[in-house]
Amino acid sequence: MLETLDETVLAGHAGYQNHQHIVALSDAEAGLRGFIAIHDTTLGPALGGCRMWNYADSASALTDALRLSAGMTAKNALANLDFGGGKAVLIGDPRKDKTPGLFRALGRAIETLGGRYITAEDVGVTMADMDFTAQATGHVRGTSASGLGDPSPYTALGVFHGILAAASHRFGVIGLAGLTVSLKGLGSVGFRLAEKLHDAGARLIVSDIDRTAVTRAVDAFGAASVDPDDAHRVAADIFAPCALGGDLNAKTIPEIAAAIVAGAANNQLASEADADRLHGRGILYAPDFAINAGGVIAIALGRPGVSEARIAQKAEAIGVTLRAIFARARAENRATFHIADQFAQERLVAARARSAA
Ligand code: NAD
Repeated sequence: MLETLDETVLAGHAGYQNHQHIVALSDAEAGLRGFIAIHDTTLGPALGGCRMWNYADSASALTDALRLSAGMTAKNALANLDFGGGKAVLIGDPRKDKTPGLFRALGRAIETLGGRYITAEDVGVTMADMDFTAQATGHVRGTSASGLGDPSPYTALGVFHGILAAASHRFGVIGLAGLTVSLKGLGSVGFRLAEKLHDAGARLIVSDIDRTAVTRAVDAFGAASVDPDDAHRVAADIFAPCALGGDLNAKTIPEIAAAIVAGAANNQLASEADADRLHGRGILYAPDFAINAGGVIAIALGRPGVSEARIAQKAEAIGVTLRAIFARARAENRATFHIADQFAQERLVAARARSAA
């Protein structure tokens, strides 16, 4: 049921970055197919959600597991969490293929890893699914027993503090009064972020493919609305991508009207070259894996006995991290994305040196 993939299989596979441990999951009876990727455990057990998706083939699922787990190493390091990076990826249609038995089988697989990987919910996977996983392993977060609930409010809180840091750095202002934010995506994070921005005195231009969400934001916040395809083009001080990834690419970046891009979406850059494109245009970009860490912070800390105030404090500290990233990027005249990655690597190198001493 569990097969460890060795380097001869992995070397050359898209997304492979010297991962510590990859296992292929297969349990035909339980309908379980997928991978667990442990990228790096220097800072602690690998923490990263479990994603379920209708992948075209198992090679693309493996690529996703490899990329996402490496991304979690950087995100957790930058958020000052004592966790490494990992990810579980399940192959299947989350609307049709989920069963309690599948998630119990996942839990049994995780249990065999002895705590080196800790899972949580991600795209296609809910708290109820994690509750079934928890019947077979203790190495799971974000279950109903954690008392945490949806981590999105903490993601929105972290993004809000990241936007404050960006506005202070770019415009030399304290607060957001009078600034205009174009916000794309009004889901669990985006809508809560809109509320915070509105309360802080920002003017909002909102967009979503879901018309109901747009109407709700227009009514609640007196927001203007725009077609989602124009969200990056409209006259605004800040563009906040909070929908899906890939909004920052060779086509959109030359059209961005805002001086700041700061939002919740994962994988906002279509490619690393887009980080330099933004830098070249003088647009201040808050790297996604730095600004949207509020959710993983909540998952890492959220358990009975840890106060909401403690989690909120750590999510708000994302603003402090971003200020440091922006300052170093300005001093070195480099793209913020590369600086954020460098900060994460520096924390890993220092931790490795400490453990070797
Ligand atoms: P969600 O599914 O609740 O909301 C996404 C919203 O984007 C929906 O309202 C959807 O209609 C809209 N949308 C989708 N495609 C669009 C398009 N092309 N144009 C405009 N709107 C579009 O998701 P969420 O939990 O709010 O997450 C938003 C983003 O933030 C995602 O990229 C997610 O990966 C990332 N993120 C979320 C969390 C969290 O705690 N939920 C944590 C870190 C990162």
